[in-house]
Amino acid sequence: MLRKDYYQILGVDKTATPQEIKKAYRKLARKYHPDVSGDNPQFRQRFNDVTEAYKVLGDPERRKIYDGGGVEQAWFNESNFGNIKDIFEKTYRQQQEQAKSEGASERPKTPPKSSAGKQSDKSRFNFGDIFSHIVDSVQTRLDPEDKEPETVKKKPKETKAPSLDIEQPLEITLEEAWKGTRKTVSIKREKPCVLCGGAGQVSGQSCHNCFGKGIVQSSRRIEVAIPSGVRTGSKVRVSGEGNSQGDHSGSLFLRIELAPHRFFRVEDNGDLHCDIPVDAAEAAVGAAFSVPTLEGSVKMRIPAGTQNAQVFRLRGKGLKPLRGSELPGDQYVTIKVMVPKFLSQRERELYEELQRLAPDVRRDLYP
Ligand SMILES: [Zn+2]
Repeated sequence: MLRKDYYQILGVDKTATPQEIKKAYRKLARKYHPDVSGDNPQFRQRFNDVTEAYKVLGDPERRKIYDGGGVEQAWFNESNFGNIKDIFEKTYRQQQEQAKSEGASERPKTPPKSSAGKQSDKSRFNFGDIFSHIVDSVQTRLDPEDKEPETVKKKPKETKAPSLDIEQPLEITLEEAWKGTRKTVSIKREKPCVLCGGAGQVSGQSCHNCFGKGIVQSSRRIEVAIPSGVRTGSKVRVSGEGNSQGDHSGSLFLRIELAPHRFFRVEDNGDLHCDIPVDAAEAAVGAAFSVPTLEGSVKMRIPAGTQNAQVFRLRGKGLKPLRGSELPGDQYVTIKVMVPKFLSQRERELYEELQRLAPDVRRDLYP
């Protein structure tokens, strides 16, 4: 890896003050930020370079190491990167991941839990999907122009023109994400015109099939296997179903969105959250009851003295991991202590007796 000239990247002098460096960085970061520059890969690269440069020159310690010509990009190996808090921290983490895959030695102590995209596939690097998973799909072609349905599992191509990739959203239920599922999706893609072979002209005349464009829109329906464990932001790659140009076809990326669930809230890391109502007496003396999980009901026990909003964890009951090296998510149960709105005569008598017996809960308040 060549030593990069961070001063040149930020357009500042070697003697620049921290304020000047910060100012230069903010200006360039705004200019090249993917939200502004869209999908332009050159600008994205500039943005990454600028951010990288600022991470070094913006930190007096790292700048000193860099100025001393010390270990190339020594800061990549630092495990503590929690003290620089700014909106570009995610990019920095991605660079950590990339540096790691390029052979930098130490793992950061706190790798982003869900950052498991294909790090080697740099052409896919995008500010927006740093934390997304990319998984490959087993796919069945349903298109009638194919002779018979075939199931293919293809390795992702490492080098391909990014412009041929297409992406579209796919909403699935939480249950489908948990189990894995098969979905039929309709895709529209561009492929070379068969009549003119992509030239746009036939015998010197504008091709009437593609109106001289050389490409035609084609629609097809394919059935795609969605692996178990996907979550919102996961991308399921279907090789060869992107746009076509010559002999090359890009990939179709299905961007998973989980439909809202009536019981569970889902976190990006695969954890689930739910609320369980508990009546006041159960909270006071403890109780055991059934709690729904994606695998079916499980028995859960709360101790005497459980408080409202107390949270219990059901380990491993969240979404399954997408990779063997990861842990499944957990299910977090938040206790909602319910106080009865209406009391029978007998209940009222008992609550009144409890009221007399109980110590004053406000005794320790500020006088
Ligand atoms: Zn044509």
